[in-house]
Amino acid sequence: MNSEALRAAPTDRIEISNLVVTAIVGALPHERELAQPIRVDLSLHVDVGDAGRTDDLSDTANYGEVAVCVADAVRESKDVLLERLAERIAEVVLAFDRVEGVDVTVTKVRPPIAEQVESTAVRIVRRRADFEQATRDPHTAIVALGSNLGDRDGYLRLAVSRLGDVVAMSQVFETDPMGPEGQGAYLNMVVVVRTWLDPYALLRRCQRIESEAMRQRLVRWGPRTLDVDLLFFDDVTIDDPDLTVPHPGIGERRFVLAPLSEVAAERCPPGWDERLPPSGVHPRGPLSV
Ligand code: ADP
Ligand code: MG
Repeated sequence: MNSEALRAAPTDRIEISNLVVTAIVGALPHERELAQPIRVDLSLHVDVGDAGRTDDLSDTANYGEVAVCVADAVRESKDVLLERLAERIAEVVLAFDRVEGVDVTVTKVRPPIAEQVESTAVRIVRRRADFEQATRDPHTAIVALGSNLGDRDGYLRLAVSRLGDVVAMSQVFETDPMGPEGQGAYLNMVVVVRTWLDPYALLRRCQRIESEAMRQRLVRWGPRTLDVDLLFFDDVTIDDPDLTVPHPGIGERRFVLAPLSEVAAERCPPGWDERLPPSGVHPRGPLSV
């Protein structure tokens, strides 16, 4: 038995109550069409002793971040059963380092049944140990980011912070604009993300991050603040107009290949650097914080 297994499970708890998100969940035809309110209650098993001594957020689980990631996972739902949704939520929560276990309750506040009931719910308890035995490794996705308007570094930072577990980042490249005159230069970079999401859920997350940037853009800036493209997802191939993986444009785009070669050189086609026109893509150093 290893030392992890010998460590006592924490008895401390961090509670997140009444997180309400609308989502597609259910088996009935109208539940497949219309999002409905789902309430999530979480009890995180975390040893908060360290944080109690140090008063330092990095010594505990950040419940704000947990709530955001769980809300994202619920919004991405196309689940038929609350059981499946609860399981996915547990996976998301257990991806946080300090969380050793979690009680998840998911409640339909308007259950579609004939009898008079207030709500229906599923409650599960999952521990890191069960979860690590039961699941495969997380996926590795490679994502390209681009911005040519407004606070370009800020939009790249927004994307990096919202994509989840970013395990590698290229430096930022400044790219001369192509296409119509009067556009500003792009900032481009490529990041590697470890994720439990499936490819379509990750695409939806990318699109939501783009629309978060757009929302800010509508107030202050013109179009095209942030583009988030999925380049690779493990070694998966998908040929669907909504999601083509590997992304079809990679081989011809220096602004993708230059940053990609820094984080996953093995994914670049051989000889790309000599084959593509040399100009237009200038290294600019790491993303500023
Ligand atoms: P582009 O990224 O080509 O400049 P958009 O971001 O506007 O243009 O294009 C997004 C569209 O491309 C979306 O409808 C999305 O479903 C589709 N798409 C297909 N494959 C991918 C992918 N690998 N990554 C991101 N979007 C993709
Ligand atoms: Mg795109």
